[in-house]
Amino acid sequence: MKKIVIDPGHGGEDPGATGNGLKEKDLNFELSKMVAVKLAVYEVNVIMTRTADVELGLYERCEIANDASADYFCSIHTNAGGGTGFESFVYTGAGEHTENIRGILHDKVAVYYKRAGFVDRGKKQANYVVLRETDMPAVLLENLFIDNQKDTTKLRDVSFLDELAGAIAGGLAAALDLPARIDKPVPPTPAPIPTSAPTPGWDPATEIARLKADGLIKSDHQPGDPVVWGELATVINRLRSK
Ligand SMILES: [Zn+2]
Repeated sequence: MKKIVIDPGHGGEDPGATGNGLKEKDLNFELSKMVAVKLAVYEVNVIMTRTADVELGLYERCEIANDASADYFCSIHTNAGGGTGFESFVYTGAGEHTENIRGILHDKVAVYYKRAGFVDRGKKQANYVVLRETDMPAVLLENLFIDNQKDTTKLRDVSFLDELAGAIAGGLAAALDLPARIDKPVPPTPAPIPTSAPTPGWDPATEIARLKADGLIKSDHQPGDPVVWGELATVINRLRSK
């Protein structure tokens, strides 16, 4: 099974970019968690570089992916600096394989952004640590601008983020050729074992019928009926008189 590292950018003391009352580290984390959830329908092992609001060095993030021998590294960020829309980065020295994966992923995500009314800023390259120091193909996604009013309106919208996460997960699945997870049939629940299992060959109802046939009891009784002393004494006395 393939392994994907999802890397929510920034965290802890490092908020990343801020704007419109939002912190990049929080947006990155929320979106990353949603992507991980969406990936659950595929046969893939998802590793998160951070699972809480903690600070994590850039080299540490790469180490997590390298130690796990991951197949792909996907860093999730939010842009800033006066712009709008979506862009993605691979390392400046990225080979054809890394570019091909990014191409499929980027195009899938860009379709969603365009439908939502955002521009595709393009497929870019940069000498970022997490792209350079990872041993496997890596990508960094810049999801809208935190200092843009129109962009942050969407970034606050949970259903927008959820669909975006679905587009990213679908893009990763297409780019990395992840098979859909086929749910194994649930085995039927075994019948509960009765707590007072009858001895094989022993039928309490037949035993009661025999007592009645022999005249030791006169009325019908269910196997689970309680016995009162009056009845019991009568049965014993009938036996004594036999
Ligand atoms: Zn960032």
